[in-house]
Parts: sequence; structure tokens; C-alpha cells
Amino acid sequence: MKISELFGKGRAVFSFEVFPPKKDSGVESITAAVDEIAALKPDYISVTYGAGGNTANTFTRDIAAHIKNDCKIEAMAHITCVNNTKEEVLTVLDSFAEAGIENILALRGDINPNVPPKTDFKHASEMITFIREQGKYDNIGISGACYPEGHTESESITDDILNLRKKVDAGAEELISQLFFDNAFFYDFREKAKIAGINIPISAGIMPVTSKSQIERMVTMCGASLPQKFVRMVTKYEHRPEALIDAGIAYAADQITDLLANGVDGIHLYTMNNPYIARKITDMVGKLL
Ligand code: FAD
Repeated sequence: MKISELFGKGRAVFSFEVFPPKKDSGVESITAAVDEIAALKPDYISVTYGAGGNTANTFTRDIAAHIKNDCKIEAMAHITCVNNTKEEVLTVLDSFAEAGIENILALRGDINPNVPPKTDFKHASEMITFIREQGKYDNIGISGACYPEGHTESESITDDILNLRKKVDAGAEELISQLFFDNAFFYDFREKAKIAGINIPISAGIMPVTSKSQIERMVTMCGASLPQKFVRMVTKYEHRPEALIDAGIAYAADQITDLLANGVDGIHLYTMNNPYIARKITDMVGKLL
């Protein structure tokens, strides 16, 4: 089933994201966590795609196939084009299809300064156009990424939204947002996207904070703004790791409650493979969807 078909049914779509293990650990190293997360029965689970090559691709496929075929939860496999040629994209897509995976999140991927990017695709929209042109992947649902505070490489949010429109015109059927800690950015972005003629569902990406170093890493990577309320919370609990996790969960649940009250299409929870976080958030917001 295409993920886009889950929307418009009178309730927000609730999804989780997990990531594959590092190269030298096997898929089995995260199966128990994935099973616990899947047992919470989200609408779908997406699996990230390492920009690091074949092992990562295989892990993404294997975990997504396990979610879909063994856990019986709809699965979405991420795929990046920064490190794939046209031929490689087709090989990966065929291997996803053979494993029963019917949905992808089509991404460019982050450019690693130490690894020259492959040159067949410059942007995610080009990969989406290429996939759609093949004709044989029409039953694959394609989602794309979006950035409530603008992508770090964009000169302005307006430029970024005009580029996002190209991604939608190319065939993306649903968008998942980058994480943010201030809902005002999401509402503003959603309004601007609508004005730009983007009418597909937009799910809000929510990441509960688990440690100060995680937040510092995220802010460096994606440039998310940190509201005062959030900074005060992290400062108060930074030396009490368990309390910080619970405070982060409470903050995320508060964000989600507000998003739901404001008619968000979907909530995409970055679980960081942590069943405790996924379970607590599900308990807190499950009845509100
Ligand atoms: P694009 O859509 O190509 O956009 C990148 C930049 O180019 C933007 O500034 C955009 O405005 C600009 N642009 C886009 N199209 C055009 C155009 N036609 N002309 C000119 N400029 C253009 N990374 C991973 O490696 N693996 C993952 O699994 C992964 N999962 C993610 C999941 C989500 C929900 C999100 C939000 C991000 C994820 N990322 C992942 C990170 C993502 O790969 C990076 O943010 C990357 O830098 C941009 O990817 P994109 O698909 O948005 O790129």
C-alpha cells in the first residue's frame, strides 16, 4: 500500500523512523528493538539509508522487509542519490521491490566532503523524475524530505520551497519534515508551501532529545533553532541523563499535542531505535491522533 493512501482518513498518520546498525554489527543487533517499536502499531515505519555504500543499503532493505513481512507494518525504505548512479538506483529499487517494500523516501543525501558525490543526480527531484520515467515503478509510493526552517544550503526559505515544488511536481506524494523544536516554524512553512501550490500531505518530524551531545550534533547537521524553553530544559537536566530523556519526551509530546490541535497531516517520530521513547510517546499521544 502506498503511504500517501493512509492520509485523509480523518486522523493524523503516526509513523516512526529507525536506522540500520553500523557496518560491523548485523541486522540482528537491532531486531529486538525494531520488534518492540513495531509492536506499538504505528501506521508505518521508515528505515534510513546510510550514505556509506552497499552494506548500508542491504541493511536498510533487510530491516524494511522485516518490518513489512514479519511485523506486518507498512515499511518505507530511504534511498539517497548522492552516492548512487542511475543504474545503481534501479538495482536498489529492484531489490526493495523483490523484498516486498512498496514505499521509498527519495533523498539526495548529505554530501560528505571526503567522498566525491556521484554525478547522475544533483537533486532528489531528479531521481524522482528518473524513477517515474521508468514506468515500471508506478506502484511504489514516493515521499520526499522538507525543511520547516529551510535547508542549510538554501539562500532563503522561499528558494527552498520553490525547489520543494519541483520535488512535488516530479512525483513525490507525501513530505516528511526535518526535525524542529519550535512549532511556529512548521506552521509558517506549511502556509508558504500551500501558497506555492504544494498540496500533498506534510508530516512533522519530531525528535525527542536524549542527550546534550545529540542535540549539539543535530543542530550542527540541520541547523534547527532551539527555543529558550527548550534550552532551559536541557540546561536543567543535562547532568541527569534519565531525567533529560523524560523531559525530552514530555517536550516532544507537548509539540505533538499542539501540532495535532493545529491539524497536522502526520507525525513522524525519530525513535533513534529506542523502544522506551517510542512507547512513552505513543502512550501520551496515541489517543489524540
Ligand atoms: P534536495 O531536495 O536535493 O535538496 C537539497 C538542496 O538543494 C536544498 O537546499 C534545495 O533547496 C536545493 N534544491 C533542490 N532541488 C533543486 C533544484 N532543482 N535546483 C536547485 N536547487 C535545488 N540522509 C541520508 O543520508 N540518509 C537518510 O536516510 C536520510 N533520511 C532523511 C529523512 C528526513 C525526513 C529528512 C528531512 C532528511 C533525511 N536525510 C537523510 C538528510 C538529507 O539527505 C539531507 O538533508 C540532504 O542534505 C538533502 O536531501 P534532500 O533530499 O532534501 O535534497
